[in-house]
Order: sequence, then C-alpha cells, then structure tokens
Amino acid sequence: MPIVRVALNVPVNTLFDYYAERASQENIGLRVSVPFGKRQLAGIIMEVTADTKVSPEKLKAIRDIFTDSRPLPKELLDLFAFCSQYYHHPIGMVIINGLPAALRTTKPIKQQKDRSATWRDTQLSLTDVGKQIALSSIPKRQRIARSLLVRFQQVDSIPGEVFKEDSSRIKQLIQQWLELGWIGADTHHSERDNTVTDSSIPTLTVEQNHAVNTILSAQNHFHVSLLHGITGSGKTEIYLRLIAAMLMHDKQVLVLVPEINLTPQLETIFHNRFPCTNLISLHSGINDTERLQGWLQAQSGEAKIVLGTRLAIFTPLPNLGLIIVDEEHDHSFKQQDGLRYSARDLAIFRGKQMSVPVILGSATPSLESYHSAITGRYRVIQLTARAIKNATLPTIQTIDTRTHKTFNGLSQPLLQALRTNLSEQQQSIIFINRRGYAPTLLCKSCTWAATCARCSSRLVVHLQDKDLRCHYCGHQEHLPIHCPECGNQDLTPFGQGTQRVTEALSTYFPNARILRIDRDSIRRKDAWRSILQKIHKQEIDILVGTQILAKGHDFPNLSLIGILNSDNSLYSTDFRASERLFAQLMQISGRAGRSNNKGQVLIQTEFPDHPLYQALQRQNFDALAKSLLMERKIAGFPPYTHQAILRAEAHRIETVIDFLSTAAKLAKDHESIELFDPVPAQMLRLKGMERGHLLVQSSSRRQLQIFLLQWQKQLSMVPAQKIRWILDVDPVEL
Ligand code: ADP
Ligand code: ZN
Ligand code: ZN
Repeated sequence: MPIVRVALNVPVNTLFDYYAERASQENIGLRVSVPFGKRQLAGIIMEVTADTKVSPEKLKAIRDIFTDSRPLPKELLDLFAFCSQYYHHPIGMVIINGLPAALRTTKPIKQQKDRSATWRDTQLSLTDVGKQIALSSIPKRQRIARSLLVRFQQVDSIPGEVFKEDSSRIKQLIQQWLELGWIGADTHHSERDNTVTDSSIPTLTVEQNHAVNTILSAQNHFHVSLLHGITGSGKTEIYLRLIAAMLMHDKQVLVLVPEINLTPQLETIFHNRFPCTNLISLHSGINDTERLQGWLQAQSGEAKIVLGTRLAIFTPLPNLGLIIVDEEHDHSFKQQDGLRYSARDLAIFRGKQMSVPVILGSATPSLESYHSAITGRYRVIQLTARAIKNATLPTIQTIDTRTHKTFNGLSQPLLQALRTNLSEQQQSIIFINRRGYAPTLLCKSCTWAATCARCSSRLVVHLQDKDLRCHYCGHQEHLPIHCPECGNQDLTPFGQGTQRVTEALSTYFPNARILRIDRDSIRRKDAWRSILQKIHKQEIDILVGTQILAKGHDFPNLSLIGILNSDNSLYSTDFRASERLFAQLMQISGRAGRSNNKGQVLIQTEFPDHPLYQALQRQNFDALAKSLLMERKIAGFPPYTHQAILRAEAHRIETVIDFLSTAAKLAKDHESIELFDPVPAQMLRLKGMERGHLLVQSSSRRQLQIFLLQWQKQLSMVPAQKIRWILDVDPVEL
C-alpha cells in the first residue's frame, strides 16, 4: 500500500508517514486529515512513496484526502522546503504559516463564486488610452483584432451582451483589452474612487523609459534589478508599464509592499490603470474568506496582479512573470516572530526558481542590496530626477535646538515656516515618530516614572483616553492621580508625542485644519482611505504623524515638513540604526515638493553637524551608503558577513544567559564561525519574559548554514524546560 509523507503543524522538523490507500503522485500537495496522538490534524502531502522506516504496527492510515482545492503546486512546496531549511524552522510550521486559515483545517472549504466575464452585463467603450491606439499599430495579419478596434472606434459604447455569440478569440481580446485598460466597463468605474489618483497615462521620462526597456529586454530570465530612484522619480509608473507588458503575455505579477497602509493607494492606482484586471490584495487587514478566495484565484491563474505584504510571497502563482518588491529596504519584509523569514530574500529565491525578473525598488536601498548592486550581482537602474516636470527635491535644513529653544517640542523657526506655509495655502507635515501624548509620566518631587510591570519600558501617556499604555505589550492602566511612591499630586507628562504636538499646534494655529495620523487614529478599517481623500481634496492644512506618513504616499500640495525628535536614533547600539534613520528621513522628506511647488524640510536637532544630517542635507545617498559600507567592512558586519542570532527568553535572565553560554560552548570548535558573547537584550524584559541573545557570524553563508544545522540539532538536545529559544537567520534587529 502507498505511503504518504505529510507535513504537520508540529514543532519538529520532520515529515510523518501514513498509509493511504489510493494515493498517487498526483496527490502531492493535497490537504489531508490524519490521526496524530489523540487528535486529528490537517497536513499537506509532501511525498508519496512505497517504503517507510516506521514499523507496520505503528503506521496509521490517513483519515481523508481533500480534493476541494487543487494541490499546492510543486514550486510552492519547494519554496516552503527552502524556507524551512534556510531559516531552520520545522517544515510543517512553515507551510501552515503560509497557507490561508481555511486550508489549515480538517474541514472542507466553501467553493468560490465564478467571477469570470462580468463584462457581459455592462457597457464597453474605449478609454482615453484606448482612443489613442492607432489601427496601424496592430499588425495587418491580426485581422480580428483590427476589426474589433474599428467596431469600438465607430460607436460610443457597445453592450457586452452583443459579443455573446462571437468567437472565443473576440472574447479573449475583450478580456485582454479590458486588462490593458484600452476599453472600460461601466460598472467597474463607478465602484472605484478616482479621486486619489489621476488615471491619465503620462509619457515616460528618458530615465523611466530606459528602466522599462532594460527590464523588459530580459523578461524571460531571472535577474535582479535594483531600481534605485529618488523619491518622486516615478517608480510606480515603471511598475505599471512592466505590469502592462506582463498582462499582454497573460502573465501574473506579484507586488510586495511593506505596509498594509500602502495597499489601498497602490490598489487604486492599479485599478485605475487596469480597470478590469483581476487584482487581489493580500494583507493582514482582510478576513479569512477574502484571503482564501484571493489565494484560490491566484492559484487558478485567474488573478493577474497580486498585491500584498510579506505573507503574499507564499501565494501560488502558476503563470508568474515578474516580482516587484517596493521599498525593498523596509524592515517589515522581515517577520519578527515565529518563522523569521525575509519576504524580500524569498522573492529572489522565487524569481530564480521561476526564471522571472525581480525588481527591488527604493530611494534608499538596504546596504545589502546596494552592496550586491555595486559588486555586480544585481543590475542597478538609477532614476536621478523627479518625474513630474519642474518638480525638484525639497531643500533640507536643520534647526539647531541648542540656540532655538523648543516649547511643546516646536521651535520658533519651525512655527514661522508653518505660518508662512499656511498663508500660502500649502499643506505641511509635522513628523514625530512617537504616538500618544507624552512618552513618560514623571513625579516632580521624587523622580518616580511610570513603568510597565511586564516590560523594561516607560508607560506612554495617552491623555485623550486618560490612561497609560505600554507600546510593547499593550498593557493599559488608568492615569494615576498621585504618585504611587510619595503621594505627590504634581505628575508631569514629559516629552512629546503626536497628541501633544497636535494640541500645541491647534493653540498656535486655531484656524488651521490639523489632523493626527498614527496607529491610534487610523485603527478603524478604511479610516486611512478617507484620510487620504481629505488630504487630496485639500481639506487638511497640517498633518501630524508618525512613520505611517513616511512611506510611499503622494501628496501633491505638500511643501513643508518639520521633523521632531529624530536625534533619539542617532546614537543607538544597533549598527543598522543610522541606515534606518537616514532611509526614514529621506522618505518623509520625499513627500514634499512633489508637484510644481518647491518643498522645504526642517529638522530640529541638537547635533546639526552629525554626518548623517550632513549627508541628508546634500541628499546624497551614495556618499552615506559608501561610508556606512566602509564602517561595516572594518567592523566585519553585514553585508561583509552573514549573521544569525540565537534568541532566548525565560522568566529570569540568569537562566537565559546559562543556556546561551552552553550554546556558545557547543559552537566553539567551528573555525569558520565567529562567536560573540551571550548578552541580555537591549530591552531586557518584554511581556513578562527576560531576554538575551547570542550572535554568530561567518564570512561564508554556506559555512554559516552548515554550522546552524548542526548547532540546532545540538541545541534541541540541551535540557531547557524553562527556556524558549529560536534561531533568527539574517536578523535585521538586534
Ligand atoms: P516614487 O514612487 O518614485 O517616489 P511616484 O511613482 O509616486 O514616485 O511618482 C511621483 C509622481 O510623478 C506621481 O504623481 C506620478 O503620477 C508622477 N509621474 C510619474 N511618472 C511620470 C511621467 N513620466 N510624467 C509625469 N508625471 C509622472
Ligand atoms: Zn513621587
Ligand atoms: Zn509592557
């Protein structure tokens, strides 16, 4: 009888064997339910074989094979296998992490609705783009296409049902033209809001044109292109052209973005350009049913554009033609718990696996990617000018807060600039990367500060809700009336958060329309979309916000940006802190001056001479990147070495350090591995656990992998009931 090897969601890195009566090779990738101990578990068939090492009396039979969805394709199983191997994470847990919830259960799934050919119930007409298509641009031998174009050119619109009796070639062409945006169907237009973006197609700039041609010239092989373009250089338009080329060949495109908040804007842009293309968006904001439907449409090839956050890297895409990773430097592509994978790095694996190009886009590439580009592993495509005619980069200046004292976090020169900008009816952003009212509550008489009982962190004052919150574990408590230590009633919120700055600004500018944007204010589903609309309709004068504002958004009337409290990250212990701060400040600065009005960025700082601010003022990414790379080279840090971190936590740090010391002893004899000392984490306590880590590195990725494999086996033998540990390969945070 055939044996199936099944991946199960259990924390052991192995497959489990079961009898399966009628199983065949075609069943690989199907979902099954199997007995496991006293439970029934869902699993995925990874192999079908004839032999097993399990003794016959112990071998059980599977309970069910589900055929309600197609088997997971081989490429996806290979991706999971690679991911398990590279990140040293159990295969079953890797698979479960990547699948939609409904495909992880032992219940049959609900069938999806048929959504093909909805255009048959609508009016079809040439779009503005379609009207520009000349008959002569379609080759003479494509007679059907030519006559169809003429049919559309002769009338205003044609009801979709007219084509009911036509040949399948005509239906195919209609579908394709809809996807390319040559023709439009009425219903779809009314569903979407067109307020956020302008749907006319611009003529490419010389640089954009070169980028598109370079990438398309090798569209059928794997290669990585680093699209290094300053903010506003029109990277999105390049993506759109590439996507159009893929749709023309009936290929699928995967677009990864770092943040769920960036998806609505991009989704609207894509929909406006390709109104009838089946686009699905996969991120943490959608529910399980939507995710399942999206996944199934991607798997069937019906969904043409898949737009999503890191998890979308695990979507099955049988006709994949291109992968785009936008804002590739962003750390949110790396998952920070459980399976600590990097979606950007997996994107490159997938590109190679499927022989398709991968585009990494950024204004401030990660030093890893930048290094790969200058050493020739990636092709680099530069965009050095803003795409909109006459739009220029904003000027960046510092305000020295040692001479210009701040009140409520705001200095006089910044207030003056805001005043001028308001009088010119331009929009401004105040960027402060801390939500809440104030980061600390202090007692003036005894120096007590409110701290979290479960984390080594201060509690943040949220005055609006009259409570104190821990931004690490979510703990909340009422704002105390007096000091718990000395009884003093004079408790002072210390420092600035978005709420306090917003409040201060509304007293300075009572007539201005001020809006705060942070995780607290956009919690409601769709809040973000309506905020963006307000901004675009110029119903807002000043935005106060956290890094949520920094990424990717295009606000045409924004001309002033004030940056508060960025000094905090200048002297961090994390060697990636400057790279990250620079990227963030470049990105937020890039929001200004995106149309014809000039932009100005003012950074309040006590260290105006710091090299990072100097580089920022010159907007010289290359200079900074090269100097940071030099530092990394001297220090022997990535990208010149490859790292992994063993992270451990327990109730007491002593237990953690003991475990890590044992781990260090086990690692000692490996010559190619450089071992650091076990250390307590920068933030020692988190959610009631104390944490520490041990960093290992090697100049050879392969050697590091060989070592990790062996080390992990040894580590799982170490008795450690009170410890939780995990390996983090290519960590991005210490
Ligand atoms: P990036 O992502 O590189 O920061 P965007 O893609 O947001 O830049 O483009 C910035 C602005 O330039 C957008 O408003 C976009 O519509 C516009 N744009 C892009 N390409 C062109 C072009 N070729 N001609 C005119 N405007 C363009
Ligand atoms: Zn006190
Ligand atoms: Zn806490």
